[in-house]
Amino acid sequence: MTLSERDKKNIWHPYTQMKLADLPIAIVRGEGAHLFDDANKKYIDAVSSWWVNVHGHAHPHIAKKIFSQLQTLEHVIFAGFTHAPAVELSERLLNKLPSNQQKIFFSDNGSTAVEVALKMAFQFWSNKNKPRKKIIAFAEAYHGDTFGAMSVSARSAFTAPFFSFLFDVIFIDIPTKGNETKVITQLKNAIQENKNDIAAFIFEPLLQGTAGMKIYEAAALDELIKICKQAEIITIADEVMTGFGRTGKFFATDYCTEKADIFCLSKGLTGGTMAMGITSCVQFIYDAFLSDDKLKTFFHGHSYTANPVACAAALASMDIFDEIDTWKNIQRIEKSHLKFLEIIKDNTHIKNARCIGTVVAVDLQTEKSTSYFNTIRDKAYNYFLGKGVLLRPLGNIIYIMPPYCITNEDLQYVYHCIEKFITEELI
Ligand code: PMP
Repeated sequence: MTLSERDKKNIWHPYTQMKLADLPIAIVRGEGAHLFDDANKKYIDAVSSWWVNVHGHAHPHIAKKIFSQLQTLEHVIFAGFTHAPAVELSERLLNKLPSNQQKIFFSDNGSTAVEVALKMAFQFWSNKNKPRKKIIAFAEAYHGDTFGAMSVSARSAFTAPFFSFLFDVIFIDIPTKGNETKVITQLKNAIQENKNDIAAFIFEPLLQGTAGMKIYEAAALDELIKICKQAEIITIADEVMTGFGRTGKFFATDYCTEKADIFCLSKGLTGGTMAMGITSCVQFIYDAFLSDDKLKTFFHGHSYTANPVACAAALASMDIFDEIDTWKNIQRIEKSHLKFLEIIKDNTHIKNARCIGTVVAVDLQTEKSTSYFNTIRDKAYNYFLGKGVLLRPLGNIIYIMPPYCITNEDLQYVYHCIEKFITEELI
């Protein structure tokens, strides 16, 4: 049996209808922006393997640091104990985060980073003896797949079977161009109608990924954060996808003047090599948990909290972010995307051509449904795979989110494949 057939026998894959799915492609190695399957076919990883890989696959510097950490200390319980990689990582991250961020809490992935943020916010109010029950989030938001993260995400096909178990969330629109005043009014009304019952406002800053790579302006977000601060509502920036250079700056909220109280990080945190989540917070939130009353403790922790190997990977990734070439690459990709948009923007088969940092997206003009499940999506996905390009359209939305080491030649090839699909296959 091939690896793919053996997989099919035992394994249940994420976001996959196992009855309809083709056999999974067996990847045997990765190098830079490339993946190679068991027949040695090369794929350009144009989605950074679910948006995690920022420096390319099997990066030698990260591999070296991980190996060395494994030989020293692979893991230790993080309650009552600490270690150099975690301490160093907290220092280096706090240097990059806005200066209001003072404490780092470790977990395992993007969803848990969000769970921790929500629990911190709810317990903050509970510890202050002023419990609050509601959260404000953007309609169409995506914050992860655990129950708290699902609750603050869009009520969509992804969450439908669980609607009745999800907690109360007030959804406001995304402040896209022309929509800003309406959204500000929605926020003000929500605050007015739920006086002293809103624990926090959570948002994906400037770029809503799963919603379909929707982009909005920093000025609009600044206004919303400001209103929340005036109403003493905790603000949570979910930078799980937008962090680590994705939008052109280290964090998307670096474009803002107002700073959130809590940050959620994951994906690019370890360069895309190890699972890790981080939730950072301001001093006043941390302080609300300090007490002689042990019931005010933050009772949250995972077995692999601050795993030293994952910390070593994150530190190695930070080394690479300290290199000027990484930022030159990010700028190069953005320039290249913008040129591509110039060429493609008037094509009658697409609309809403857009770009922020290393992410570029277009919506296919299609008579058919634009839902995540439409057939264009599958057709496009398979078409690109056939051409050796890994792209995972979100419904009728095609986007590129490459590792920063992708070459100009590879980028041109990906653009070429998209153009060819649009002009030749979109009937
Ligand atoms: N928040 C955002 C903004 C995300 O894009 C994602 C994942 N796509 C998550 C949270 C959840 O992260 P994870 O898949 O690591 O649980």
